[in-house]
Amino acid sequence: MGSRSITKITFTDTTVRLYLHWGSPEYQIPNMAEFIFWAWTLDKPWTADSYRAYLDTVSDGSLPAEPTDGFHGDLEHYYRITIGENGQVTYVYKHLNFDAEDWAVEFQAENRAELYDEAIRQLEAHRRWVADAIEANPKAVHYEQDLAAIDHHLHEARLYAQVEALPGVPASACQSDFHAEHSCERDQCSIWTPELTEIADRPPRRGDHDDGSQD
Ligand SMILES: [Zn+2]
Repeated sequence: MGSRSITKITFTDTTVRLYLHWGSPEYQIPNMAEFIFWAWTLDKPWTADSYRAYLDTVSDGSLPAEPTDGFHGDLEHYYRITIGENGQVTYVYKHLNFDAEDWAVEFQAENRAELYDEAIRQLEAHRRWVADAIEANPKAVHYEQDLAAIDHHLHEARLYAQVEALPGVPASACQSDFHAEHSCERDQCSIWTPELTEIADRPPRRGDHDDGSQD
């Protein structure tokens, strides 16, 4: 069982190929979007080391960490991500259609904004699924915890989509580059808003909120 995935990521320094037993898109797309926003916000270089540093902060299996060259039977999901020097992101998600025995592209992003929009869409769909499950079984307490965790990530995903929509952000490699481009004092930025400062000061960490909903 499981929902097995391979995620191949080309960073600016190297390419990694990673296996994850539970790798379905309703988690993987929002989780990878969070890593991308975390790295942008904290001025991290777009390297495999930055990704590993992020995994160290979450350490909950929410993103793939296990390097693999091997073949995994019953693979269901394949993610191909490339990240350029300036944080340009392309993202392709393929799903194996068991009936057709064929891989189909389910989602493609050409930039960070498209990835963030899809993260929101995935979280909204997941939220509807959990809300329906609660309606069908009001006594299932863990669904309430799931719902709270999804709401938390949805709130943050909408904020970083707002950040990405600011003029100058899509072309920037990191937050410092963005502010340098219009010569502001970061805490008195005319483009930034107080609400965005909140998320930039404490960028999303999946582990922060999800601990209670893991069991
Ligand atoms: Zn600024």
